[in-house]
Amino acid sequence: MLHVQTFSTKGIKKMNDRRPLIAGNWKMFKNGPEAVAAAIKLANLLGKNHDVDVMIAPPFTALAQVSDAIKESRLSLGAQNLFWEFEGAYTGEISPAMLVSAGCEYVIIGHSERRQYFGETDDTVNRKISAAVDHDLKPIFCVGESEKERESNATFSVLDKQVTSGLKGFSSNQLKALIIAYEPVWAIGTGKTATTDQAQEVHRFLRAMLENSYGNTLAKSIRILYGGSVKPDNISELMAMDDVDGALVGGASLDPETFSGIVHFQI
Ligand code: PEP
Repeated sequence: MLHVQTFSTKGIKKMNDRRPLIAGNWKMFKNGPEAVAAAIKLANLLGKNHDVDVMIAPPFTALAQVSDAIKESRLSLGAQNLFWEFEGAYTGEISPAMLVSAGCEYVIIGHSERRQYFGETDDTVNRKISAAVDHDLKPIFCVGESEKERESNATFSVLDKQVTSGLKGFSSNQLKALIIAYEPVWAIGTGKTATTDQAQEVHRFLRAMLENSYGNTLAKSIRILYGGSVKPDNISELMAMDDVDGALVGGASLDPETFSGIVHFQI
């Protein structure tokens, strides 16, 4: 029998069996010692009892040290990117097997900054998700529309293309650990957050797409995170939405106290 969690806030009831995930993307911030200090502080603030998964994704150079530092804590480790080959002459790249050996459980794939500055395409994203799946890394697959695309009413067609191409060729069995992060590009690092209705509308759309392609059981189990200027003061209302199962947090994840405020959302 499924374990059903019931959350409620301000009279809103939320019933599903998806465990919330709050993920912190530290981007290109913090060297090894700084990352370890922040991870330990966060672990202490969060304590051990939990019904929310929490992941932090420091830069590659800090992964192994942070992995050691958080072993006894409730925190999980993630990477911000990977390359799809197992090993080889690929200067500057990091393989999925290397991430696993550094202690990673999750990997962020297709972040808009990677698409914008490093030429990632739906095709490379698809290969990266495949590599993550093959190595039992949980992919956090990022999708989202630009401001121009939203203004021209292209949000759903853009998301449709990103999801269809990114997940091309997968069976439902391969996608059991998939996590999708809806990150409207116009909301990342800008202080602009999607309204709860905008977030719910897109999350609902994404879940319906998953249902069409992979059936109801998988669609109901996949966690869909919202990302884009999430802060302690807007997380609770976002989390109250039926199809919002957590958050991918950039700027506000860098400070342990602020991030802990997000993890301790109230619904
Ligand atoms: C992100 O980088 O994934 C992100 C959502 O950033 P921020 O929270 O700073 O908007």
